Amino acid sequence: MRHASGPMHAIACRLHVDETLAAGAAVGLDAPRAHYLRHVLRLDAGATVALFNARDGEWAARIDGFGKGWCSLVVADRRRVPAPEPDLWLLFAPIKRARIDFLVQKATELGASVVWPVFTRRTAMARVNLARLTANAVEAAEQCERLSVPELRADATLEAAVAAWPAERRLLVCAEAGAARPIAATLADIDPTVPLGVLVGPEGGWAPEELSWLLGHPFVLPVGLGPRILRADTAALAALAVVQALRGDGAGRPVDRGAAAPRCDPD
Ligand code: SAH
Repeated sequence: MRHASGPMHAIACRLHVDETLAAGAAVGLDAPRAHYLRHVLRLDAGATVALFNARDGEWAARIDGFGKGWCSLVVADRRRVPAPEPDLWLLFAPIKRARIDFLVQKATELGASVVWPVFTRRTAMARVNLARLTANAVEAAEQCERLSVPELRADATLEAAVAAWPAERRLLVCAEAGAARPIAATLADIDPTVPLGVLVGPEGGWAPEELSWLLGHPFVLPVGLGPRILRADTAALAALAVVQALRGDGAGRPVDRGAAAPRCDPD
């Protein structure tokens, strides 16, 4: 079935591109995306897609042509202007493949601006595949109508991340053990202009000496997420949702669906 059966101007898909977007600009897509538009969505030259990035906003673009492994488009009208997005960092101990992909996708949907894998004492994974995680973040941003893609930081040890931590940013350490105030109570006491990060431990939890070392830093606040022990991915997403609801963009609304591009999802 042909996807381009709607009106000429219907938006078939939403794609993040790094290139500058401006009326009349030409944009080329790499082979996987060209393949996706041509052979998965079955679009023809003349079909319209949406291209976006945080710098230039979202633009309609017309497919100019396809070749072997490429697709060229011409940018037409702007559909959305760039807008500020929440400044909320997520640091987490790498977990196994299916769960880490899930975590990065969902953190993107929940509006994390920085996603930073950090190795803790009990982290079971030896390495992370940043390219794959970035691809997950891009796909989730395309799907959820974000204009930005979260910055995927190169993995670091917890010590290095803490050493590089900007002093003005508070770090909410999700602590399954020891003293910790509820996350909502902690947030109520933090000036709304203070930027935040959330840190979640590995499936094995915090080593006691690691947690007490963390709590010795002036920017660190231990927070509790309730009486149940959550899986690491659940804890990260719960914390992000609470922060967005209480002091992030949780009061915002999705863009008007009439003007929005449909999902661009191979599933
Ligand atoms: N294996 C550990 C649990 C680790 S849960 C144990 O059995 O105790 C993984 C991470 O999720 C924790 O390190 C913590 O950062 C977070 N987490 C899970 N449940 C939590 C809770 N109730 N409150 C705060 N953080 C929690």
